[in-house]
Amino acid sequence: MTTQEINLADLENELDPNVTRQQKLAEAKAAIAGTTPLIPDPPNCVVRLPRGLYQGGSWKTEAEVRELNGADEESLSRVKDASDFFDLVLAHGVVRVDDLNLASSPLSERQILLRELLIGERSQLLMAILVATYGEEKVLNITCGTCSEDQELTLYLSKDFKAKEVEDVAEPSFFYTTKSGDSVEYRLVTGSDQNEVLRRKGATTAEQNSVILSRCITKVNGAILPDPQGYARRLGMKDRMALLQQMVDRQPDLDLGVQTTCVACGGDIVFSLGWSDLFRP
Ligand SMILES: [Zn+2]
Repeated sequence: MTTQEINLADLENELDPNVTRQQKLAEAKAAIAGTTPLIPDPPNCVVRLPRGLYQGGSWKTEAEVRELNGADEESLSRVKDASDFFDLVLAHGVVRVDDLNLASSPLSERQILLRELLIGERSQLLMAILVATYGEEKVLNITCGTCSEDQELTLYLSKDFKAKEVEDVAEPSFFYTTKSGDSVEYRLVTGSDQNEVLRRKGATTAEQNSVILSRCITKVNGAILPDPQGYARRLGMKDRMALLQQMVDRQPDLDLGVQTTCVACGGDIVFSLGWSDLFRP
């Protein structure tokens, strides 16, 4: 006889006159079963980061996220800016990276630490927090651009938005040769670079690109630049675009583009989502 059977038998012997035998049995069974999750397939809260966080001489790559709760919602409701919002979502939702327990650090420390991640990795974590909080399915109301038919589209977030697989993502630097033959050494864009760009309110795209280039170009022809901002601005437009494109291509980012077929006319419906569209119940 197992322990569970003994417990059941004991409960049956002390029947309360106000409670039926069946209820008592059901309670006992529930107690034995423990806290069985009501959702049959809990979301996968672990994200394998392609590069990770560099801490204590090694890369930490296994991140764990959790569902956002009411306290997080209150904290997020105070944020005015969409850019700060997602930075804060990450700080609330990421609980650990390998043995690094983030939940025990102050929020501002978590924000700074998580900004060291590549922007593509931050997108992967945002998606995992989204799934943990709202579930896999996301129903969108869309309108066909061809026949104007309104319709519902159900997305399965983990399946429909996969991270791009990129090679050598953990390399400390990459190289680009300019039109004039300069060998430009650069690193990939992190949350910290993105934060710096977003902090400059009212900056144009060209000005934002100069900030990114000045921060991410580490050396030119093997030498550290005395004036990175000046170099970024002197660099030809064609080189700037090509270099930025390489930086984008090397990010392990998620493509939030959606492609579907209209239920009425069969035409293609193609559009791109933003994180603000997804972070809504
Ligand atoms: Zn249509």
